[in-house]
Amino acid sequence: MIPYATDQRLLVARDITRIQQLERMRRDFVANVSHELRTPLTVVAGYLETLLDDDSDEAARRWHKMLKAMYEQSHRMQGIVEDLLMLSRLETQAQPEQQQPVAVPGLLAQVREDAQRLSGEQGHQISLEADPEVWLQGSESELRSLFSNLAFNAVRYTPAGGRIRMRWYADAQGAHFAIQDTGIGIAAHHIPRLTERFYRVDVGRSRGSGGTGLGLAIVKHVLLRHDGQLDIDSQPGQGSTFRCDFAPARVYRQARAAAV
Ligand code: ADP
Repeated sequence: MIPYATDQRLLVARDITRIQQLERMRRDFVANVSHELRTPLTVVAGYLETLLDDDSDEAARRWHKMLKAMYEQSHRMQGIVEDLLMLSRLETQAQPEQQQPVAVPGLLAQVREDAQRLSGEQGHQISLEADPEVWLQGSESELRSLFSNLAFNAVRYTPAGGRIRMRWYADAQGAHFAIQDTGIGIAAHHIPRLTERFYRVDVGRSRGSGGTGLGLAIVKHVLLRHDGQLDIDSQPGQGSTFRCDFAPARVYRQARAAAV
């Protein structure tokens, strides 16, 4: 309502029922499609895996290449379906599943190990510096997904042997997770769009390294639900830094003595 003329008021009302219905239909549709696809995909991928393991005769060996391609593609589809389901859970549930103090330093140590495993023979040097006293109020599974997505991206977009540095610390502005890589970097004009679903700088490279195009969309949603913000700083050919800032109210100080 706004003042109008001398002693009148102008009231503007807008019926948004239809917009809300459309929004809900879109969310339900994505969730339903993902649920429906999950079971058949699991069956197909499972049988393909069994067939791949069988190299007992000539025919099995001849089929190996095709079966391998089919298995890889079905595995990729499983990844997309899992990520879509995760996104639809993040969108439909008002609050994170469990709100509890999460031991972020321990969680990050696991994520570091998973990232090192993903790197495998590429031998990335992945370091972690984490303040053991800084914990966060939130959902452990959602935060795991957030940190893993950023860490796996750093591995996937950094050439073999590159360096990846993870830091977890707190200051007067809150708690921060920063992950810096010496990878391929991102041109400035792509950065504002990176958290859109299926937005990729290089589709071939993303798919080739097992990407679904949904990782940073998940990151954005988890941050929204934890009063956090994402900051991306990158130079093509030099590397990138992704930083998550969490509000001070979320920070949970775990005394060192109690942690032992
Ligand atoms: P994807 O599965 O394609 O990696 P994401 O949503 O996780 O999807 O990321 C979107 C795009 O952002 C990627 O396709 C890639 O182009 C770019 N990107 C993400 N992280 C990095 C990084 N650490 N270095 C360079 N580019 C990155």
